[in-house]
Amino acid sequence: MSRNSYNRHKMKLKRLFGIRGRLVLLALILVIPLMLERARSLEDARAKQIAATSREYKTLADHTVDAQRQVISSVEAVLKSSSYVYALGTEISQPCMVMRASFRVDLPWIRSLSVVDRAGHVQCSTLPGMTGLDLGDRQYLKKVQVSRALVLSDYIFSRATHQPTIMAAYPLKSSDNGRTGVAIIAAVDLRWMSSVMNELGGRPGVTALLIDSNGVVLAAPDDLASTLGRPLPDKTLLPAIVAYESGTGAQGGAFTHRPPGEGKRRMSFAQLPGSTARLIVSIDEAKVSAGINREIRLAYIQLAFVCLMVLLGALLVVEGLIMRPIQTLAGIAQKLGRGEREARAARHELPTEFMPLARAFNTMATQLTTRESELLASNNRLSVIATIDTVSGLANRRGFQSRLDFEWHKADQTATELALLMVDVDHFKLYNDNYGHLEGDACLARLGETLADIATRTSGFAARYGGEEFCVLLPDTGTAHAMEIGEMIRDAVRDLAIPHRAAASKNVTLSVGVAVTRPNPTMRPDDLIEAADAALYAAKHAGRDCVIQHGRHDPPEARVSLAS
Ligand code: GH3
Ligand code: MG
Ligand code: MG
Repeated sequence: MSRNSYNRHKMKLKRLFGIRGRLVLLALILVIPLMLERARSLEDARAKQIAATSREYKTLADHTVDAQRQVISSVEAVLKSSSYVYALGTEISQPCMVMRASFRVDLPWIRSLSVVDRAGHVQCSTLPGMTGLDLGDRQYLKKVQVSRALVLSDYIFSRATHQPTIMAAYPLKSSDNGRTGVAIIAAVDLRWMSSVMNELGGRPGVTALLIDSNGVVLAAPDDLASTLGRPLPDKTLLPAIVAYESGTGAQGGAFTHRPPGEGKRRMSFAQLPGSTARLIVSIDEAKVSAGINREIRLAYIQLAFVCLMVLLGALLVVEGLIMRPIQTLAGIAQKLGRGEREARAARHELPTEFMPLARAFNTMATQLTTRESELLASNNRLSVIATIDTVSGLANRRGFQSRLDFEWHKADQTATELALLMVDVDHFKLYNDNYGHLEGDACLARLGETLADIATRTSGFAARYGGEEFCVLLPDTGTAHAMEIGEMIRDAVRDLAIPHRAAASKNVTLSVGVAVTRPNPTMRPDDLIEAADAALYAAKHAGRDCVIQHGRHDPPEARVSLAS
């Protein structure tokens, strides 16, 4: 990773964990445990709901088994009593009539009672059409003769009534070797049994079926009435029940089953005593828990919404209470940076907590403004000082240069003449040698005063050019006038009568070089300086203490081309 991308990465992380990120994190830390607790309690509620439903249906299934068991018990009781009655009737040679007469009609599920002889022929029946029927092939009749106890058949389709039926057979005590009857059989109405199943049906996701050992549906609630007499639609269920039974050795129980292509189901089943019929209650977990699942989904949506609101709230709070005030203060700092000195933090724009910061900010802004003004003033003073020569009290070379540029430009614009006088003290080295440097400075100061005075009078500008050399800039001044001013200066210095014992005149004198031009864009201000300098050189050459105009008496080596 290059240093740049490392830094970028670092910046991204910093931004991520800025105040916004941290507050959002804090909000999440507060909300997540509540969310997890809510989710846990919802999941708990779901598990409890399924367990409660499972229990409820187990109880219902048990009750239904009990009801079916009671049905079977009542059938057994009726068969027992009828066999007894039949035996009694045999003694008076009217068994069939006695049995028919004693047939109770208050047990609606017993459709008929019949007595079958050893050969399997119906000898007597409460249903007229049954007598004479050959039932010799029925397995339950063979079984009852062996077991000598109550036997229930698998599902049959009644030959007499064409109704779904199971048969209950009970052995008869035969005194004539089974000629008049070996068993008494009852046709049990499965439709009636189905009505018992209705108690379990009618709830979404719950089905209850009574099946025989082959998996044929013997009883079903009304909504599944079409399955009556048909094999179970789910071919895998019966093998699963048989496997469970052989695995546990129990004739009932509960297990989880997944029919092909369908959702998970909780199966409860129980075998009816004395028969191979089984009652199966199946609970579709998805459908049973559909309600609670909906509630859970709704609760999760609510949670997500609450979370979103908390996050949005946190962001808004950060935005309003922290970020905006920071941006306001940053904006004021930027304005101050741009020089808008009046920029201040308004109290109503900021939360109370930011007031000390805003006050400090405003105080700082006021102080900055004061400091800036002070700095500006002292800068101005410094720049003035920087252009003044302390010995002569005149402008120094720098001050002269900027004034020359200004006057040059002005003269160029107004097409006027500009004159420059270069003034040099004669034999000043000797002056210093004779009177000392300090006296030399005092002399320079007096000369400065004189030049300043003349410059004021002539609307000129006097400066110390360097060493014992001065210059006077005269705007809008022609050669003649410039020469007069040069003479004026020479006279004024002579009038000062500063003693100079090493000089021939015994007083301090000056030499003046005069140059005049009409500035234009092809010329430079330095050309004027060079010309005045050349004239000064000529004045020195001419014996000093004189004023020389450029180009007049300059020696050839000092001439400068200066158009005028
Ligand atoms: P000339 O007539 O040819 O101009 O001769 P001069 O001696 O004046 O010229 P020169 O260039 O030989 O010497 C100039 C002297 O001016 C030398 C220096 O000591 C003196 N000087 C320059 N600046 C100052 C200053 O600020 N104070 C003092 N006291 N003397 C200065
Ligand atoms: Mg000199
Ligand atoms: Mg000199």
